[in-house]
Parts: sequence; C-alpha cells; structure tokens
Amino acid sequence: MAPSPVHVRFAPSPTGYLHAGNARQAVVNFLFARGRGGRLTLRIDDTDRERSRPEFEAAIEQDLAWLGIGWDDKVRQSDRLVRYAEAAESLKKTGRLYPCFESEEELAAKRALRAKRKLPPVYDRAMLSLTPEQRAAAEANGKTPYWRFRLSDGAIGWDDLVSGPRDIRLATVSDPVVIRADGTPLYTFTSVVDDLDMGITHVIRGEDHITNTAAQIDMYRALAPRRALPDFAHLPLISELSGDKLSKRSGSVSLRTFRRDGIEPMALAAYLARLGSRRDPEPLTLGELAGTFNLDAFSRGAPRFDARQLLALNRRVLHAQPFEAVADRLPEGADEAFWLAIRDNIDLLSEARQWWETVRGRIDPPELPEARAMLEVARATLPDAPWDEGTWKEWTMAIAASTGIRGKALYMPLRLALTGETQGPELAGMLPLMGRDVVVGRLERAVK
Ligand code: GLU
Repeated sequence: MAPSPVHVRFAPSPTGYLHAGNARQAVVNFLFARGRGGRLTLRIDDTDRERSRPEFEAAIEQDLAWLGIGWDDKVRQSDRLVRYAEAAESLKKTGRLYPCFESEEELAAKRALRAKRKLPPVYDRAMLSLTPEQRAAAEANGKTPYWRFRLSDGAIGWDDLVSGPRDIRLATVSDPVVIRADGTPLYTFTSVVDDLDMGITHVIRGEDHITNTAAQIDMYRALAPRRALPDFAHLPLISELSGDKLSKRSGSVSLRTFRRDGIEPMALAAYLARLGSRRDPEPLTLGELAGTFNLDAFSRGAPRFDARQLLALNRRVLHAQPFEAVADRLPEGADEAFWLAIRDNIDLLSEARQWWETVRGRIDPPELPEARAMLEVARATLPDAPWDEGTWKEWTMAIAASTGIRGKALYMPLRLALTGETQGPELAGMLPLMGRDVVVGRLERAVK
C-alpha cells in the first residue's frame, strides 16, 4: 500500500501571542509538509473558554503570515464540540472515561501526602471505585463530575523521529482529565479526536508534550483500535542564552517583538528552521529551505537561542535584498542608489534612517583642527558636478597628490567631516548621493 500523503498540523492555543518557541514549531511543520508535497492544517486549540481570545487567534494568523507561513486549511476546536461529545460518549460506554468529584484542594492534599511518602504525584484512581449511589449522592449535593480517561496498564513506546525510541510506563502518569465539570473538553483529548478525524500522519511538536503523547497514544487505541498511529516528533524546547525556557507568556520574545525590533521575517524563519539542527543557519527563503528539510538533522539537546546569530543572519538577508523588496520600508525619498550604497552596512533595516539623515539631513561633524590643511585642499580640489561612483577616487587621488597624505590619515578626517562617524558605507557610493553642495557645506563647517 502506498504511504498516505503527509498531513501535519500546527496547533496553537489562542491564549497569547506567538513566541519564538511555537513559531519554530510552525516553521518546522510547514517545511516538513512543503518538502514532502503534504498538507498543513492550522488548528486553533480554543476549548479553554476562559483563556482563549479571538484577538489572539487573529494575531497568530497575522504573525504566521508575516513569517511567510501559509496553511492549507484551518480548523477551530470550538466548532467541533459536538464531535468531541460524541467521542467522549463512546469512551464512557466502554468504561474508559470515569466521573470524578474531587476538588483541586483535595487533589493537592493527596499529592502532598504522596510526596511525604516519596511517591510520585500520580492520581490514585479513588473515583474508579465510586458506587452509583455515591455518585447520585454527590450530584444531589449539586456537584457535577469532570471526567478522566483510564489509562491502560503497561507501557507505551514509539520511535520518535527526533528524540529516538521512547518508552513511558503508564503507571507513572495520572489518568488525564479530559472533560471539565463545565462540560468543555481538554486539549489532550480533543487533539486525538482531531488528529484521527483529519488523518494526521505526523505530530511534530515540543518536547513538553512527551508525557501527553503516551496518554494520547493510549486514547488513539481506545478510539480507533484498527487505525495506524501517526508518527511523532518532539523538538527539544529552546533555551535562551540564560538557559531559561521561552515561556508562552514571556512577551519579550514574541514574534511581534522581533518584528518591532526590525528583524526580517525571512531571517527569523530561516534561523528557526535550522535552530537545534546540525545545519548552520543560512539566508534562504522557506521555499528554498523546504527542498532539503529533514527532521533527522535535529539534535536531541535543547538549542540555545542566540540573538547575535539571528542578527548576523538578518544582516546577510538584508545584504541580498533588492531595492524593490525594501522600498516601502525605507525613509521617504530614498532611492535605489541609496539602498545599494548602504545595504552592506546595516544589521537592521531601521538603521537606514540614520544613513538617510547622513545623506540628506544635517550632521554634526567633530572639530578636526589637525586635519585642517588637508581638508582645505580637499575643498579646493572637489571635482565639478555631475558626480558618479568614480568621483571619490578621482578626488582622493587629487588630494593625495597635492598633500602627500595617504591612507587612514586621508580617509578618516574626510569620513568624519562628511558623515560625523568613523565607520559606515563606502564613501564612493555616498558621495554622489550627498551631492556637491552638501559636501562643500560640511567641509567648510569642519575647518571653521
Ligand atoms: N495546543 C497545544 C499547544 O499549544 C498543541 C500541542 C500539539 O501540537 O498537539 O501546546
């Protein structure tokens, strides 16, 4: 039988903005699907009514689009509640879901007791032995049950496409709560129903879901014993330079922050695509990355998010951008010649503004008394307009010929007088952009 076509999903919860950690999962799922001619579903995990917000759903879509990620279809879990209720009913019939009444406080007290006895914090299944009379009495007291999935005995094993062979003893896992007392289903369960219904072939997500995977495989088998399981790939979570995990709630690394800081979406996507893999980041588009994308390249250790590496990649991305790609984000009036003159000298596109000021605005050159004589010669030998890329060379050769000054002693005072900076784009490109009048004015100010 031919293998089924690849179908993956990216499943964010709309409870906050996308951050680097979950954006990386989006990138990886996208590249995996594209590289294999498969499909990507955007699944909005919004069954937590209290924390899910439509604004976040919209923001997630905008942020994915900014990053260059498209999806083939979108599913919202809150639109599928009837289906989850039906699946829950079937599990109730086979005794795999059982009602529970313990409060958070009671459960916490049990955990504390187990901790004292050095036992793992696994739920003791007390409610499994609830009699129909006890249940009726609890309900008569106004209590509504929530429901747990009864895990099988034994262990669940799978060959993880990133982290290798895994084997989890189910006795170390609590029977997961799958339906809350208010009737809303929890992600652990709804995800299985969706993955089955949609025929998801590969579940690619963060390593924080490893234990869920064991419980979920057990649920797959309970819901559809004859269906093949999807493959699983768990990516180690990103650590920051400090070693902290990127938290979903930590605004500091949201995609919006990168965007506000001027990081190019292509640089971020390319960085995330290779982060934690054996391949170095390269300034490639997602389309280019998809062709050679391979889950095998990911390492098992937690990757470090290195902002300097991202910035270096951003710089390389900018250097390769044609004028048309950035024109609408450049300062008003900036033209192609300006872009070509500065693009090798910026880490972030926002720095273009500073060089535009240097070209067209006012600068404050430092006083250069020791270079006064040379700058006066420079003023006197300034070629006539029109200027082009060759003007700089012609001019500096003339100054050198009449003063005998060469190298740094020549270029540095000129650069300082003309730009107010010790470093920057090639003056050969900048000079014609400034124009003769501006250059004359600056030289005169420098020798005043
Ligand atoms: N909504 C879950 C999360 O954001 C999805 C995990 C999964 O991919 O199954 O962690």
